[in-house]
Amino acid sequence: MIHSAPLVLPMSGPPVADGTVTVADGRIVRVGRGRGDVHWDGVLVAGLVNAHTHLQYTGMAEVGRRVYDSFEEWSHTFDRAYFGGGPGSWDPLTRKGVWDWAAGAREGIAQSLRYGTTAVADIVTDLEALVGSPLGGVTYLETLGDSDQTWREAGRAHFLRLLEGLDGRTGVSPHAPYTLDSGVIADVAALARDRGRRLHVHLAESANEREYTLRGTGPLADLARSYEFDFSILRDGGTGLAPVAYLDSLGVLGPDCHIAHGVDLGPEDRALLRARGTAVALCPRSNRTLGLPGPGVAALLAEGNRIAVGTDSLSSSPSLDLLADVAALRELALGQGYQGADLDRRLVEAATLGGAAALGLDGEIGCLRPGSRADFAVFDLEPDGREPYRRLVGQGPGRCVATVIGGEVVWVLGSAVVQC
Ligand SMILES: [Zn+2]
Repeated sequence: MIHSAPLVLPMSGPPVADGTVTVADGRIVRVGRGRGDVHWDGVLVAGLVNAHTHLQYTGMAEVGRRVYDSFEEWSHTFDRAYFGGGPGSWDPLTRKGVWDWAAGAREGIAQSLRYGTTAVADIVTDLEALVGSPLGGVTYLETLGDSDQTWREAGRAHFLRLLEGLDGRTGVSPHAPYTLDSGVIADVAALARDRGRRLHVHLAESANEREYTLRGTGPLADLARSYEFDFSILRDGGTGLAPVAYLDSLGVLGPDCHIAHGVDLGPEDRALLRARGTAVALCPRSNRTLGLPGPGVAALLAEGNRIAVGTDSLSSSPSLDLLADVAALRELALGQGYQGADLDRRLVEAATLGGAAALGLDGEIGCLRPGSRADFAVFDLEPDGREPYRRLVGQGPGRCVATVIGGEVVWVLGSAVVQC
């Protein structure tokens, strides 16, 4: 099957005007020029990789529809909704609400496809959210809330039982520095590496995290105490380390790990992430919802950090449209003084190649090169041969008209212009 479009952006190579993409057995055979069996009127781009989301929370969109004053204010609201699950649905035995996580995940998958996303780093907290999906990428089993003692007593065995029952490609996610004890985080990283599982963690999302790991004080210490977490950081008055150095001291960082957010990163933090080969999934619209500043994308780009882009979940973001986060990053980079003419290209690369690399799937997804999975999306845009990435970033949000995964058209807008 040969697909063609006036402009093809393979990401693994330069843009191709009047390009063709030849697919066989769900894989890319070649990218060339000419007219295909299926002609798409628009810009055909390698499938987008959403490098940080929680699709199970798609039903919690109400929580993400307003703007908060702080991470902690959002967190309280999220917890009320998560445990409440709506009026009358609190279950005192399991201490959980009765959200239909499978329905949330299915809706999240459907919305992702409509925005041209073909692979995700999806964090799963409740196993009911594991539903069949055409999306590629990595699912990460999340753990949170254990002290070193509760982990030894029961948490570790429970987590391992869950993990052993899951697909060998499932990664693990120790949630964040303020929801797990130090020994637990170190143990989760070690057991992930023993089993060849990838790691993903929320890190440096707000400046309060720095105060928490350095001194064991501040709003996040109060939050942890409100959950009655008995963590060594709280007892010892911190570790004297900033969040990135703290996680590094626990053996978490490496090329097989990527972090989400990275809003509060100084030069030493960025240097340490580069030294460890750890990518950062930037989620600027989620940060905005929580009343946080945007990430320092200009410095990350200028210094050569590995970056990817994520939407986070609908509980903290207005939509699962990854290109809208790319557009937000562009505004941030310009506001931070980024001067390079390569800005649009590098941000689209972050949302494709960068996401693939963050998930350990370089060459497999996020690009159109011979052998990679035939994942791509078509956007209803006038092709601009002079600035091929500018138009996609500026006008692409909301304009995906078709999504193809493994060579199959998994979503198409009724009005998309297709000639066969
Ligand atoms: Zn998240």
